[in-house]
Amino acid sequence: MHRHNGGQLVTRFAPSPTGFLHAGNYRTAVFAYLYARHTQGTFLVRIEDTDKNRSEKQYETQILESLEWLGLEYDALHRQSEWVHEHTRILKDFVDRNLAYVSKEKNEEGVERELVRFRNPGKDVTFDDLIRGPITVNTADLGDFVIAKSMDEPLFHLANVADDALQGVTHIIRGEDHISNTPRQILIYEALGAHMPHYAHLPLVLAPDKSKLSKRKGARPLLEYRDLGYEPGALLNYLAMLGWHPGTDEEFFTKDDLIERFTFDQVNKSGAVYDEVKLKWFNREHILRLPEDEFNQKVEKKLSDDFRTKAKEAGVLELLFPLLRERIETFEDVVEMEKSGEFSYMVEKPSYTPEQLTWKEDGTAEAKKHLEKVLEFLNTVPEDDWKEASVKNVLWEYASDSGRGSVLWPLRYALTGKERSPDPFFVADILGKDETIARVTEAISKLA
Ligand code: GLU
Repeated sequence: MHRHNGGQLVTRFAPSPTGFLHAGNYRTAVFAYLYARHTQGTFLVRIEDTDKNRSEKQYETQILESLEWLGLEYDALHRQSEWVHEHTRILKDFVDRNLAYVSKEKNEEGVERELVRFRNPGKDVTFDDLIRGPITVNTADLGDFVIAKSMDEPLFHLANVADDALQGVTHIIRGEDHISNTPRQILIYEALGAHMPHYAHLPLVLAPDKSKLSKRKGARPLLEYRDLGYEPGALLNYLAMLGWHPGTDEEFFTKDDLIERFTFDQVNKSGAVYDEVKLKWFNREHILRLPEDEFNQKVEKKLSDDFRTKAKEAGVLELLFPLLRERIETFEDVVEMEKSGEFSYMVEKPSYTPEQLTWKEDGTAEAKKHLEKVLEFLNTVPEDDWKEASVKNVLWEYASDSGRGSVLWPLRYALTGKERSPDPFFVADILGKDETIARVTEAISKLA
């Protein structure tokens, strides 16, 4: 472990509130958080809002809400704009010590304005990246770079380094796109006489086509996943695995597991592809392990008031929960399934015509004959063994021999009254033996 000065380890997440951040951006926050908690250090959040033209409060709100949803609680929150007096003090000090100077320059429109430039000593700068190892860059080509628009308008490099130094950040964990900024920032560290932090530049999060993940590539704002019925623990688990490898084949990790296991030794150098299919897999794994009460509550919230009331009256709500547990990938699936009428048969008797009960070229007489046979088989299943598998078991051979469509279509229609619905064995399980028998009997009399 890399302790700084023997003291406590401090990491931070330092987003700019100039647009919405996608899930890939939050991967940085996840790593900084996990590392701080793993080492019993401190995790800071700093909103880098010095760019007044581009920063917006709504983005800051969204960032803080996203961190809360993911469960990345922070030990302190800073806003860069509230530290500008410190930046000004540092700029004055740099100018006094001839480490920086104010220069009058014309902008693109030919208007003269002042800029503060850092006197670049033009030398080799080396830092030891926790992921990439030692990196050496000669800064001569960078010239005297701009660090402020005026004495009280610091720019990124100055404000970023000043804050990290003043806030005691020991480990800078950020995207690999910042590697090229690091040499200039180290020069500023040296000018401040501050301790150099450790750096960990994370591999990029890539879109499926291997380009950098971005809004244009379909990356969603993180909170959209909340609204789509994803579990925050699943997002956290998935984001942690984007670039980090636990060193075993395990994939399911709770927040506590991740905190315990996360180190930089197992962070890859190469980019990680963001894969929503994989994310859904993680979500399903997390949903499967939710405590029953929590799962049931989340399902209930997604059901319409009307359906919930009817399902309670019919006594089927409790039956729906375990069945959904096996079938949903996100809680939004519950909404979709209800909308498409997938469970309406649970709370109301189906209605249909004899023709609808009848499979393709079959006549109603054939449908009737098959349902009578089905009824016989169903009656052989004992009440206490009435479940999907046993219902399937007694019908399967007959259905296979007589044509599955011819047998199972009338059954399914008799039970649900729908063109599309889950298979009849599943439906029979939900309805229970009495209701299933009643519905099949009703269908036979319709066909008579
Ligand atoms: N505000 C910068 C960004 O969002 C922070 C970079 C850093 O973490 O140092 O990219």
